[in-house]
Amino acid sequence: MSAVANSALHRLRITLRGAVQGVGFRPFVYRLANETGLTGWVLNSSAGLVVEAEGSEAQLANFQHRLERERPKASVVTMRETTWLAAEGSTGFEILASDAGSGKTVTVLPDLATCADCREELFDPANRRFEYPFTNCTNCGPRYTIVRDIPYDRPNTSMRDFLLCPACRQEYTNPSDRRFHAQPNACPVCGPKLEGAIEDAAEALLDGEIVALKGIGGFQLLVDARQPSAVAHLRERKHREEKPFALMMPSLEMARDYCEISPAEVELLESQAAPIVLLRPKPGTDIAWNVAHCSPYRGVMLPYSPLHHLLMEECRFPVIATSGNRSDEPIAIANEEATARLKGIADHFLMHNRPIVRACDDSVVRLTRGSAGILRRARGYAPLGVHVREPLPAVLAVGGHLKNTVAIGIGQDVFLSQHIGDLDTIEARGAFENAIADLCRLYGFKPELVACDLHPDYASTTWAENSGLPLLRVQHHQAHVAACAAENDVQGEYLGVSWDGTGYGLDGTIWGGEFFHVNEDRYERIAHLRPFGLPGGDAAVREGWRSAASVIFETFGPEAADQRVRVMLQRGVSVIPTTSVGRLFDAVASLTHVAQQNRFEGQAAMLLENEIGTLRTDEAYPFPGGDWRPLIQTLLADRQAGTALPLMAARFHNALLAWILEVAAGARLKQVVFSGGVFQNRYLTERAAEQLESRGFTVYTHRQVPPNDGGIALGQAVLSRQV
Ligand SMILES: [Zn+2]
Ligand SMILES: [Zn+2]
Ligand SMILES: [Zn+2]
Repeated sequence: MSAVANSALHRLRITLRGAVQGVGFRPFVYRLANETGLTGWVLNSSAGLVVEAEGSEAQLANFQHRLERERPKASVVTMRETTWLAAEGSTGFEILASDAGSGKTVTVLPDLATCADCREELFDPANRRFEYPFTNCTNCGPRYTIVRDIPYDRPNTSMRDFLLCPACRQEYTNPSDRRFHAQPNACPVCGPKLEGAIEDAAEALLDGEIVALKGIGGFQLLVDARQPSAVAHLRERKHREEKPFALMMPSLEMARDYCEISPAEVELLESQAAPIVLLRPKPGTDIAWNVAHCSPYRGVMLPYSPLHHLLMEECRFPVIATSGNRSDEPIAIANEEATARLKGIADHFLMHNRPIVRACDDSVVRLTRGSAGILRRARGYAPLGVHVREPLPAVLAVGGHLKNTVAIGIGQDVFLSQHIGDLDTIEARGAFENAIADLCRLYGFKPELVACDLHPDYASTTWAENSGLPLLRVQHHQAHVAACAAENDVQGEYLGVSWDGTGYGLDGTIWGGEFFHVNEDRYERIAHLRPFGLPGGDAAVREGWRSAASVIFETFGPEAADQRVRVMLQRGVSVIPTTSVGRLFDAVASLTHVAQQNRFEGQAAMLLENEIGTLRTDEAYPFPGGDWRPLIQTLLADRQAGTALPLMAARFHNALLAWILEVAAGARLKQVVFSGGVFQNRYLTERAAEQLESRGFTVYTHRQVPPNDGGIALGQAVLSRQV
């Protein structure tokens, strides 16, 4: 290069991979090339976005610099390749047609919330898209939920049957238009149409009725969040007794009337993913008591599609927005399916004729340790990948049993499906199989290896066993920490703290309170909770009093134990040993009379954390080496003495974090990785991280995937590199 005079022409080919399609990248490159005076072309290929640019050395340097700095906000570049070519003396800069060659490796984009420009047009009576519920542009709109195949072009989406009108076509083909190559581009003349009226739906909500709305990733059930009887109806019909419901607020201003919102939380609410953000509610508002009575948080989201904007503008009050299904079933996406399945739940339907290709729930996010932590990863995040350090074999990871997600490994990228859910029902297992077929088709991926959980009875494991492919069984808690280490790119040895409700251990017992010394792919289990028996096995997961009976039995002898399970414990029949911290939470919640059951996973632990409230103390129950017997003795003495509940709850949490500090100090490892459902507990996670960091440790927690079993597939995929 340097041997050539600066004025000489050079030609540079740049290939970008990642989320570079459907984000306005080509028009951006086109504009940039014109501004910097370069010639050449840009095209979308199935291997990525390819640019060939010709000009002087200075022009090309300027172009590359600005390409990185000014690229579209929604784009994610995971790989960049540059090659110098001989100048061709090209004239002008062109956008070439997509090449549909082999090797699909382009990232599919998640669905993006309505942008400010589109929102403005939506409420502008002079605009031709005034009050049009399906407006979108290159910066916003559906993606993952409408794409059938890649490359991401209109014929490969559920918009293929809507022919662009002349005005829309003009926008679509004009590189300087915001809608240039916006695949779902549409207007009232040529685009999808609403079936039903927004005013009628708003009226129905006001009357306390349940409205089924066809959203972006499936149907949602909406109800006026201020009417306890309407909320009760929804709970009854959906068979959802106590699990908190999420709210959609008409505006950020109104959300502020109901919740405390920090600037970082505002950013999350208004982000392109527009997830449900868990916020602290303000006291004394008119939100019905039964919306989320057993949670210290309110799950809040803002309108994220034009249809939501229009409906919420009409309502101007907060509504519950929950997935359109009966509990434990997948979310409904097709109109006929929804009317059949939601009959008996919904009183009123608001639908449209734009097909949804795949179901995608609303994502759930909470601010933890100052940044976003994902608790449910779906709309707005799926199917973005996690980039990992080492190349992986062509692996399909089928996840766990609860909060299932699946993943595929392609080179150094792991692409994760959206949240599928618990695999308890036939419908859910169908959705699981669809998600696998779907991910593989979308990425033209043929797995050569399947990674699954060690648990012999998981539906996902059974599927893997029947797949006919070579099988890698991954221990649950190792997969947890591997996932967290991978997404944080942790290098060198570390202490993996893997705490959750249940997972199958290497010794056939139920683990869930594990410490691993991890060195490369070697996991040494250096500490664990003192085991206790789960009387009745799985029944103990739902009924925390059983765990309580067991720790009482062990601490004080058979006479002290609950007589309902005393004989069972004495004989050791149907008693499964466990080291699960989640089950210890259940036991303590039961002994403090906070909760005797889990009506949804982790409920008792959540209620116990709530009890701490604003109390701050360093007092802790004795818990030497994970032995809970002195802890239980002191706790019961406290209860006897009438000690306040918040103090008992705090002392229990502090005992757990003291144990983490103790093991970390003994392990002589400077890096600590937290994973597992227990780390959804914000009090424990934040304080343990804080105290470890003040002692010189580096602490890693989940960011891109959930700490619960929703993140397991990533860990399984990553651990396949050892094969
Ligand atoms: Zn837009
Ligand atoms: Zn049109
Ligand atoms: Zn787990």
